[in-house]
Amino acid sequence: MNNNKRSQARSSPINRPNPHWRLRWLALGLGLLVLGMVMASTQAPGQPSPRQTALPSGAPLEHRQLALPERPQAQRRATAGTAEPAQRRALAWRELVVERGDALARLLREAGVAQPTIHALVRARPHGAALSRIRPGDRIRLALDGAGSVQRLVLQRQPDRRLVFNREADHFASARVHTPLERRLEHASGVIDESLSAAGGRAGLSDGLITDQHVRDGAIVAAEFVNRGERHRAVRYTDHDGAAAYFAPDGTSMRKAFLRTPVEFTRISSGYGQRYHPKLGRMSNHHGVDYAAAPGTPIRATGSGRIAFRGRNGAYGRFIVIRHGERYSTAYGHMRGFASGRRTGSRVSQGDVIGYVGNSGRSTGPHLHYEFRVNGAHKNPLRVSFPPMDTIPSSQRVAFDEKAQPRLAMLDTLARTFAALDR
Ligand SMILES: [Zn+2]
Repeated sequence: MNNNKRSQARSSPINRPNPHWRLRWLALGLGLLVLGMVMASTQAPGQPSPRQTALPSGAPLEHRQLALPERPQAQRRATAGTAEPAQRRALAWRELVVERGDALARLLREAGVAQPTIHALVRARPHGAALSRIRPGDRIRLALDGAGSVQRLVLQRQPDRRLVFNREADHFASARVHTPLERRLEHASGVIDESLSAAGGRAGLSDGLITDQHVRDGAIVAAEFVNRGERHRAVRYTDHDGAAAYFAPDGTSMRKAFLRTPVEFTRISSGYGQRYHPKLGRMSNHHGVDYAAAPGTPIRATGSGRIAFRGRNGAYGRFIVIRHGERYSTAYGHMRGFASGRRTGSRVSQGDVIGYVGNSGRSTGPHLHYEFRVNGAHKNPLRVSFPPMDTIPSSQRVAFDEKAQPRLAMLDTLARTFAALDR
């Protein structure tokens, strides 16, 4: 499915020196465009000048929150007098990863570092002592000159912090270097067939930063997807209580009050409506959907609410009914057992496990019988349209718009660019 070759061939007309540009995969079904936050430290070791990510022209630059700082004073001092650029290029870098039980002296000896050099390193001022306190997971990078002599040692403990030791004739000078992480907005495009975040990952949201030091991916902050020609957009918004969720530009939640299916099933063994009932031997109306699944498969509440019934109920076998406010209720039958700690009247949240797939009641094999009712009337759970979960409250509407607008504008820019490429 990945159309990388073609994408690269088509990227040339953009004529923009942006290594992170991702082109849309040609695909059937759902097209996806995502903007995501990425944390990166721009100064990779041994790389004299950091790379900058170019954002598409016309895009708001407010996302470039942390500009690259001046090189810290200490490091400049430490670097002075050591390798000139030409000379530095001749250095060979080697990386050692500290494992449990490693001691610095042995690690360096095994890497071929001479004993006097090891001594000089641990005596280096002011940070030499830190070298005797290395921990599993620390990274040590050595820069060796043509003669195999250590010119520089970098001890990296965290993505944004390292100690640098530079050779100055017969001793080493050391400095602590702090490179603030830069938050960047990256964009990607691809195809959804699982979740938004999985698709974002596959679309290359994380591998766009190989040239720099990629630290971690943040959240997808905005997305656009096209389903059967219809354009949908979602923006991430963190409300005043700190809860983050995705909303449409008009402030309605992208989440629905109900999950479509309560169980991971192998197949739908019986749909909703008229069917021949194998046990009754005649046509009957099936008020729910049967999901065949392995016995013991967890069953989840499709919506938040209260357990209205939990127990045995004739043909339903072990049965649970959940009430979701005034209008809605859902029902789950043929369970092998109930999840512990819940009884009639207990509150459940969407996605909570309420029981396990079984074969109790009038059932020909392990499956979940699931019903969806609106004002007491059965509806096809696979067809009924669900209400949205919540909308942005009016008190946060201004804050939401302020956050959403620049991101939607960026999606506009990206969408226009892709449209131009498609011509
Ligand atoms: Zn059924």
